[in-house]
Amino acid sequence: MSHQVAVDYVNHVYETVTKRNPNETEFHQAVKEIFDSLVPVFDQNPSYIDHAILERMVEPERIISFRVPWLDDEGKIQVNRGFRVQFNSAIGPYKGGLRFHPSVNASIIKFLGFEQIFKNSLTGQPIGGGKGGSDFDPKGKSDNEVMRFCQSFMTELSKHIGPDTDVPAGDIGVGAREVGYLFGQYKKIQGGYQAGVLTGKGLGFGGSLARTEATGYGTVYFVQEMLKDKGDSLSGKTVVVSGSGNVSIYAMEKALELGAKVIACSDSNGYVYDPTGIKLDTVKRLKEVERKRIKAYVDEHPEAEFHVGFENIWTIPCDIALPCATQNELSEASAKRLVENGVIAVAEGANMPSTLQAVDVFLENKVLFGPAKAANAGGVAVSALEMAQNSARLSWKFEDVDEKLQEIMRNIYHNSMQAAEKYGKPGNLVVGANIAGFLKVADAMIAQGLI
Ligand code: GLU
Repeated sequence: MSHQVAVDYVNHVYETVTKRNPNETEFHQAVKEIFDSLVPVFDQNPSYIDHAILERMVEPERIISFRVPWLDDEGKIQVNRGFRVQFNSAIGPYKGGLRFHPSVNASIIKFLGFEQIFKNSLTGQPIGGGKGGSDFDPKGKSDNEVMRFCQSFMTELSKHIGPDTDVPAGDIGVGAREVGYLFGQYKKIQGGYQAGVLTGKGLGFGGSLARTEATGYGTVYFVQEMLKDKGDSLSGKTVVVSGSGNVSIYAMEKALELGAKVIACSDSNGYVYDPTGIKLDTVKRLKEVERKRIKAYVDEHPEAEFHVGFENIWTIPCDIALPCATQNELSEASAKRLVENGVIAVAEGANMPSTLQAVDVFLENKVLFGPAKAANAGGVAVSALEMAQNSARLSWKFEDVDEKLQEIMRNIYHNSMQAAEKYGKPGNLVVGANIAGFLKVADAMIAQGLI
């Protein structure tokens, strides 16, 4: 098998994907990243090509798109669009979050669902890949409006999910409040107590300890592994974390706990730079309780500065950069700036936050780079542990879940490093994570016949 055959195969399938899914740029981007990583696999194992493995993987098993009508506080009818992409169930029930954000469309949900297949496989847990959401904007909505929206959304979604078929959770715009409303409506419709149908639930009704913290903590545990391999640690490092939502807050918390100094965070309006160190209690209260914009931070901390425009956060010199906001928030220019400023490590807490060109800049400059599928897999991994606890009707202690999370993150790191080495790209965690995630799903699909 010549290398060219593998390259031609990947290019041919990629072209089909772009033609068959026109204008879905985020989905194309996610597919391209995986495909480029997989060339060495097809070089060594051409039988995957005979099994048309990529042609099958890029086609979701099922996509559901539905109307979500709801009444706002003025009594006016509003209509949003809901989605669930059930991408791949070769290794377990579909698993992945729900995103409520005005930017949500088929392309966004498909890119997220596609990445979720490989991320979930990497966790070592028995979970397939799925994703969903709506173009509903929770910003500025009352609790009652959010509740009515969630109830309407679940009225339709409930027909398609279940503890052994598809298990949604949170993502951007969907946290404990939304999961609570969604679970209440599911329970009412189904008439039974199927705790394992959703993860990220409240602790009083089947939620897992450490799930709230898991994505952010996991990202920092991953950074810890990357640094450890170089004989280094987080202690005394300067960290910039974009975003100020669930992932960002708990990434900051763990980084601080491990002795780093966090100097900036952001939201979609702009970023806060606090040279004396971000006061996490303020960020938590502003974002988790008061649901305010991050700009309000400087009213309480005059030593800090607020800057309009979120992407300029990457102009701040730092040792470690953790993009934890959203897709494509870190451009090639920003990556170059980070490198010029001496960044040592970058780990993606968000999904696909770095553009393909930005990733290349990090890899070419030998920055330790933890791609999203590996670095942010801690969230969904603990979701799988929540499912296990629900099935067993038990709740584990925080320390036990956290210990398992650390072990999972260590395994993801080492499995990805090994795969990168084996397929001729030593140290390249993008290639390593993609290959390690891919192999398990591909082999399961082949073993199960033509699915
Ligand atoms: N939305 C998270 C992710 O991107 C978590 C999904 C889950 O817990 O199911 O992986």
